[in-house]
Order: sequence, then C-alpha cells, then structure tokens
Amino acid sequence: MKGAGPSTKKLRTMRELASLVMEYYAECHRAKAEGRPVGWMPPMNGGIEVFYAMGLMPVFPENYSPVCAAFGAAPPHFETSEAMGFSRDLCGYMRDILGYVHGDMHGPLEPMGGLPEPDLIMSFGGGCIPAMKIFQHLERRFPHAKVFRADMPQVALDDIKEHHVAYAVSEMHRFIEFLERNTGRKLDEERLHEAVNLSDEACRLFDRIMSFRRNIPAPFGASEIGLMFVMVTRQGTRTAVDFLSRVLDEVACRAEARQGVVEEERLRLFWDNIPPWYDLGLLRYFEKAGGVVVAETYSSAWSIRLDTGDPIRALAVKSLMSYPLVSCVSIDRRRDMVLRACRDYAIDGAVFHSNKSCVPITLGQADIMKALERELGIPSVTIDGDHMDIRNFSLAQFQTRADAFMETLLERKGR
Ligand code: SF4
Repeated sequence: MKGAGPSTKKLRTMRELASLVMEYYAECHRAKAEGRPVGWMPPMNGGIEVFYAMGLMPVFPENYSPVCAAFGAAPPHFETSEAMGFSRDLCGYMRDILGYVHGDMHGPLEPMGGLPEPDLIMSFGGGCIPAMKIFQHLERRFPHAKVFRADMPQVALDDIKEHHVAYAVSEMHRFIEFLERNTGRKLDEERLHEAVNLSDEACRLFDRIMSFRRNIPAPFGASEIGLMFVMVTRQGTRTAVDFLSRVLDEVACRAEARQGVVEEERLRLFWDNIPPWYDLGLLRYFEKAGGVVVAETYSSAWSIRLDTGDPIRALAVKSLMSYPLVSCVSIDRRRDMVLRACRDYAIDGAVFHSNKSCVPITLGQADIMKALERELGIPSVTIDGDHMDIRNFSLAQFQTRADAFMETLLERKGR
C-alpha cells in the first residue's frame, strides 16, 4: 500500500478474504475443467442466484478488473485495448477486460490464472453504455458461447411500475428456459428458493455490518470495502452468509467495546465514487490525522433485499433495480442519497473522487458538493483520479489536497 499513514486496526475476519477470492477463482477453473458450464455476466442481476441454483458457474468480468488493478496487471490490458482504438477516456473496467480477453488470457502475469472462457454469455441490456458494450464485444470475442440478450427495461428506481416488473418476470422465465435448453439442466424450484433466501440473508447481514459504522468511533473503515467481494460473486450461497456472519460478530464486538480504527477518531469522512482499486490503502491515508472514511456511495449499491416468498419475481425486481442504484441515478436522487448518508453517519467532511473513467458516477459531483455545504455545512474536497487506471492519478496531488483538507476540517472542529 503506497498512500497510507500509520497501520490501523483492521478486522481480523477480513484476513479470510484473500482465501475467499482465491477459492472463488479456483472454483471457476474447476468448473470449466469438470465440464460444468461457465457463464459470464454483469454483476448485480438475478442471474447469479439462478446460476448457483442450477449448479452453473457465474463469472463476472467487472469483478476481475479490480483484481487485475490490485495485482498491477491492468496496465498491459489498457495498452492492448488502446492499441485496438479504445480511448483512454473510456470506462476503466471496459478497457481492462477488453484488453485482457484480446491478450494472452492465461499468461503468467494474469491474476488467479485468468478467467475460464465462457460457455454462456448473459448480455443484460441495461446499465451504462460501457457495461452494455463490454458484453457486445465479448459476444464477438467468444463466438462459440451461447448468448442470452436480456431485454430489461431501463427505468429509474422511482419509476418502476407493475408492468415493468411483469415484463422483467417474463424475461427471467425466458432466461431460465435458455439455460435449461443450452445446459441440459433443470432448475429445481426448491434450490432456487434456497438461493434467494441465502441472497436475502447476505444482504441483511451486509446492511447490518454497514450500519455499525454509524457508531462513534466506527468499528471499521472504507479500506475493508473488499468484503463486497462476496456480495458480487457469491450471492445466493452459504459461503457469503457464513463469511458475513463472522464479520458481523466481530464488528458488533468491536462496536460494543467502542474499538475504533485509530486511537482517536477525530474526523468522520464520506467517500464518493468507486475506490481506487490499485491502492485501497489510499482510503487509510486520512488516518494519520485521525480521519476515518466511515461511509461511501459505492458499497451501498450491493445490497438489495428480496421478497423470498416469490423467488422469480424477487430476482426480476433485483435485475430491474440493480443498475439504477449505481450508474443510472438522477443527480437529484444521488444528492439526496449522499446528504442522507452524511447526516446518518455524522460526517465532518466529504471526499469526492473525480473518477476520470466513470462518467455516470462522476457527473453532478460539483452540485452535490454545493448542496452538502449549503444544507449541512459539510465541506468537501475533490480528488482527481481513476478507479482503474493509475496513470490518471497523482499521489503527490492526492496527498497535498488530503493534507490541506484535514487541516481545514480539524480547524473547523477546533481540534
Ligand atoms: S458505472 Fe462506471 S465503472 Fe461501472 S461500467 Fe459504467 S462507466 Fe464503467
């Protein structure tokens, strides 16, 4: 970790994360070797629970990209995609994954041995343009994979009506029929019910874990955001529920003992936008001044409670809701979400990551910063960067701005 201050009190349970990540990717390779169908799909849609219920293996290119960034494997992928004509200004996930699949997919520098090639591709027609484009390109790159193109209506959260849900339910049925036809496996309703129950339970645990960060001091900070990994890759499994249960137990104990991240929590911070996956230690930089990032926009998007009484409908609703939660939210709604989080988590200052390669989440930050100052008197700072591409980030500039911001906040608090 390049940008951090002094060492902090990390969660003990988070030491399990590395083995969870390795085990997930090992299972992806095992599935391929055993002839268990592997399907590539975008994260956060109802497909994952159906996959696990049918014994299929879901793979998430958008999850592999942060792994590549963390292992320093992304820059060669960017070179490949840029040589193909993709602009450096485009989404970092897109440039990474397209560079990866057009390079040596199983080369020695690829983390986790790379990804097994897809037998199935779920191309969900929703989300931001790069998310859709990734899958259009993957269809061309893997012409032998069977492709399901979901026709999911893209509707803002507040505008989702019963007829949208009814249509999404019909798409879920078409999806299941596609999987049954192309894999020769039947969906067992009981197993689907169980997967949906587990998925909902994981969301309940995740929400509970996050809510403990309202405590002063917060029992853990944003550099532990890696626990999202199970919310992306293991929804609908016992693995996610067991891990999150252990994290919750530890977090609850720390909260009860009033054990924080630093010796004295002097400033509570909010982080807007996707974190810099190549150096999550940057989120701990503020700790040298007693600042702890106690809430962020990105982590809240990975939990959607499900109506477990009607699994297919629940997964249809989840598929409708997932992208609008992150990238297709109006600026007004995002402003309201940030203001509410800053109130709920007793925030002293907000850090806005101006993310060069994610326009949907970066758009409107200046308006949100003004609203924070005007309505809650909370000051903000902008950090220029990129969630994937370290070439668009300057550590010196980050440190200068972060230091000045900490100083201002401490002065305002009279500490
Ligand atoms: S929301 Fe941002 S990071 Fe995610 S796929 Fe879209 S442009 Fe890329």
